[in-house]
Amino acid sequence: MKISVIGTGYVGTVSAACFADLGHEVICVDIDKSKIDLINTGIPPIYEEGLAELLKKYAGKRLSATLDYDFAVKNTEISFICVGTPSDPGGNIDLGIVKAASANLGDSLGKKKDYHVVVVKSTVVPETTEKVVLPIIEGHSGKHIGKFGIAMNPEFLREGKAVHDFLHPDKIVVGSIDKRSGDMVASLYSGLECEVTRTNLRTAEMIKYVNNAFLATKISFSNEIGNICKKLGIDTYEVMKAVGRDFRIGPHFLNSGAGFGGSCFPKDVRALIGKARETGYEPQLLNSVLEVNEEQPYRMVSLLKDKLGSIKGKKIAVLGLAFKNDTDDIRESRSIPVIKELLDNEANVSAYDPMANGNMKKLFNIKYHDSAIDALRGADACLIMTEWDEFKSLDKEFDIMGRKLVIDGRHMLAPGKDVEYIGLCW
Ligand code: NAD
Repeated sequence: MKISVIGTGYVGTVSAACFADLGHEVICVDIDKSKIDLINTGIPPIYEEGLAELLKKYAGKRLSATLDYDFAVKNTEISFICVGTPSDPGGNIDLGIVKAASANLGDSLGKKKDYHVVVVKSTVVPETTEKVVLPIIEGHSGKHIGKFGIAMNPEFLREGKAVHDFLHPDKIVVGSIDKRSGDMVASLYSGLECEVTRTNLRTAEMIKYVNNAFLATKISFSNEIGNICKKLGIDTYEVMKAVGRDFRIGPHFLNSGAGFGGSCFPKDVRALIGKARETGYEPQLLNSVLEVNEEQPYRMVSLLKDKLGSIKGKKIAVLGLAFKNDTDDIRESRSIPVIKELLDNEANVSAYDPMANGNMKKLFNIKYHDSAIDALRGADACLIMTEWDEFKSLDKEFDIMGRKLVIDGRHMLAPGKDVEYIGLCW
């Protein structure tokens, strides 16, 4: 099938490349010309394992990119909206970009005769597709629903494993306004071994939020238990390993540490809280999930101060800047509040991340290094903020520190290293 993908960020670029891999012809649209140029030369605008290979294989063949909505809509049968849905200053979902993309799509659809389906892949709160996107497209195209189709197909990929997750999904959800739109979207995935769950539009939107809110809740629950275990001198990892053997609980997302970040969990939990409040319901549990998460990074700095007293003028190495391993994404990374707190306390921060130094440079004017050992040189302490594999094997590298104090926010170091080791929750 011929597909256009609107927005070439993490979700858009990965979806486009993977749809091409499934045999579809794909045209990407973005407002950022530099991303368009990169994709057309086969270079991904973001880092994801396996993405460069796919773009190299399909760019200029069945994958192209353009700034021109009219061209993309005219030459495809189905358009996926994959633009960002950030939080507004009050924490509610900001639909400004989705509205702009919908208006552009509507304008282009107005110039097209053939049937076309618009699919919302961006994470949007329930009712958005039906009550926001649909009326904008109708208004801008001058067409009524039926002359075009509309569907909602949430994305569940994990950054860092996005290509793998897209091609090996454990669920595909297609919500649609009618059978025709839903059938067209579901058929795109026929090359994958995964059952397609068919729903209405608002149910599909809700499934995405519940998925993320539940995972975020598991993490904050584990962090709260970890904080209690720490006070009692109990290893929370030993506790959760046993608890996770219960088939009703499962072993995943029980790792306590510095909390969750990224472009999805924090903003999606906030957006769900905002939507719940709109209905007159105050979601106490979801509020607490965020509160626990906000506190965790500051616990790292408290532990540091417990050991060093004042950190003014002290050299603190921060290992890991990305919100998780295998990505260069720093959005809502837990290292951001930690670095801010260190700077507010007038510490000298020396940072290292295998991929995210460049992105963090846009936020903080601190010392960035190309290796852990360079960041550690002469440091009074080290904070481990991201679960990069390479941090697990750090050992002799710590010898270069002024004081070998390591505060581990991700349960990275095995016992027995010759350092003064403090686990955040263990
Ligand atoms: P992103 O910010 O990385 O990318 C969005 C892209 O849209 C950018 O390239 C931007 O230039 C482009 N854009 C902005 N306005 C546009 C317009 N009017 N027309 C065309 N393009 C425009 O976002 P992302 O991380 O890919 O997330 C996109 C959506 O998918 C969000 O709703 C997010 O919540 C959801 N999601 C993200 C992930 C993830 O891991 N990143 C996973 C699942 C779902």
